[in-house]
Amino acid sequence: MVMWSVGDVTVTKVLEMEVHWPFKSLLPGADDLIPGVDWLQPDFVTDEGRMKLSIHALVVESQGLTIIVDTCCGNSKERPGAKAFADLDTSFLKDLASAGFHPDDIDIVMSTHLHVDHVGWNTQLVDGEWIPTFPNAKYLFVKEEFDYWQNEPQDYGPVFDDSVRPIIEAGLAEMVSDTHQLTSDVCLESTSGHTPGHVSVCIESVGERALITGDMTHHPIQFVHPDLASSADWRQDLSSATRKDAYERWSDGRLVIGTHFAGRTAGFIVKDGESYRFDVA
Ligand SMILES: [Zn+2]
Repeated sequence: MVMWSVGDVTVTKVLEMEVHWPFKSLLPGADDLIPGVDWLQPDFVTDEGRMKLSIHALVVESQGLTIIVDTCCGNSKERPGAKAFADLDTSFLKDLASAGFHPDDIDIVMSTHLHVDHVGWNTQLVDGEWIPTFPNAKYLFVKEEFDYWQNEPQDYGPVFDDSVRPIIEAGLAEMVSDTHQLTSDVCLESTSGHTPGHVSVCIESVGERALITGDMTHHPIQFVHPDLASSADWRQDLSSATRKDAYERWSDGRLVIGTHFAGRTAGFIVKDGESYRFDVA
């Protein structure tokens, strides 16, 4: 099990799956930039030069609360525009329980944004109906993100209808700002660009600091090239500006935990000439 301690806070990675895709499927232009960046292996690039992309949840335990940050793809979802995430039958809930977290124990579900691979386990299919997977949790949605997606169909499939709307209907949703404080140690930071209301999650406890990226960075090659935008970005100009600004601030020795980083998943952003590298923790 991969986990980190940040002062009194712990963060546990629970894997749903890892895919190995050509870089051009998500980060067009990255293929030419990979050779020569030797620290990308073995964690983030395969021997064949493909992008390793991990789909995992990060469970944050802080001040007696159990917070799950992003809920992966989920099982049995209809995803005509995202075949790799369609009609899955993974052991995620079993693995979450093996890591010590029963669905009933989750107090807060926090979505960095409302894309297909971040809200899937918000719900599960029971007797033909999508019901909340975490019945005792408050599901926090950033208002700007929620407002955008409730009027904007996702190309991937009926993501909002099967993974967000049932939460509203069950009365478990709460709208929050993009600077919301979840506990005295955990808060949100706006990192708009990948989606309109995208947030990263900041942790600060007993003088130690960490940061959960969300999808403002999909892959560590973007630390070397902050202007390398994702084809899934809502506004690539804004996502690039957000990365440049964030890397400058986050290269201060805090632990950076990647939402899609494979392998060891976490490390430190280190200034390297005009750019940055990532020292895996
Ligand atoms: Zn994602």
